[in-house]
Amino acid sequence: MQTDEMADRILAGDRRALARAITLIESGRADHRAQATTLTDRLVREGRQALRIGLSGTPGVGKSTFIEAFGMMLTAQGLKVAVLAVDPSSARSGGSILGDKTRMERLSRDPNAFIRPSPSQAQMGGVARRSREAILLCEAAGYDVILIETVGVGQSETMVAGMADLFVLLLAPAGGDELQGVKRGIMEMADLILINKADGELKSTATRTCADYAGALRLLRKRAQDPEGYPRAMTVSAVEETGLQAAWDAMTVLADWRRAEGYFDRNRAEQARGWFEEEVREGLLAELRRPGPARDALARLGARVQAGETSATAAAQEMLALLGRR
Ligand code: GDP
Repeated sequence: MQTDEMADRILAGDRRALARAITLIESGRADHRAQATTLTDRLVREGRQALRIGLSGTPGVGKSTFIEAFGMMLTAQGLKVAVLAVDPSSARSGGSILGDKTRMERLSRDPNAFIRPSPSQAQMGGVARRSREAILLCEAAGYDVILIETVGVGQSETMVAGMADLFVLLLAPAGGDELQGVKRGIMEMADLILINKADGELKSTATRTCADYAGALRLLRKRAQDPEGYPRAMTVSAVEETGLQAAWDAMTVLADWRRAEGYFDRNRAEQARGWFEEEVREGLLAELRRPGPARDALARLGARVQAGETSATAAAQEMLALLGRR
């Protein structure tokens, strides 16, 4: 399919064209990358916007159950929902915690939903780029809400929070001790903490956990981008489908407030700038890995440093001067 045709079909909401375009952006081939860049550049100009919601939680907390129930609720309200998985485990091991095919079966059959698992064996930098570009493609395809899902391990949460308008942390009911288990940095990124599994015999524990987190959130430094009462902690049950509408209301109230106050656009503009700078950094690093004069100079200077013939600082300056001269 030509890039123009692909763009037209995506704009018309064709899910198969969207899936093919995402495959294109995931490809490492130089001609595919060039095509992908042309495509995203063209589609971004359309200026379509979705609400981008980052969602994180450890394996087993109920992410897929929640996303399915939440997604079905939104599509029933006439919204189009895309789900993208950002799976850092695929960058390391080639295996995948998220996105196996049996997850979210009902939602994947919904014509107003689009689900895309994380690609396997991508580099961490590649995962970020692919996710950002996939977000743009989904926005161009007319999705209203994009859920960007990740597991609660290390840098993937920071990455997802950095490409979302809202960041939601999904937690399981737990004793007081485990509150310590959530790192302060992660808490500080959250706009909404949802304690899932607030049903059956876990209900009272969930209520207590929620109160603990609400208390912990009140102790955090107040952020300018938050109205009164945010960040919030709430209970939900993905299985019984309770609390989902309240969670959505909390998200839309926050997003609307940020739009009205200018934080929404400012955040996106800053994210876009950060993305640009990251692309440049990645490009420079790629240059050093690619066979050619830069890689040769790196090897040559590295060997001289190792042999004690020059200092690391002097060699690095020579290397940077060489890069700057091109
Ligand atoms: P993920 O690994 O975070 O995607 O978690 P899953 O959605 O696969 O759920 C893990 C387990 O928790 C499954 O056995 C679910 O049935 C269960 N689970 C998910 N949500 C709920 C809930 O709201 N209540 C209860 N009781 N169990 C849940």
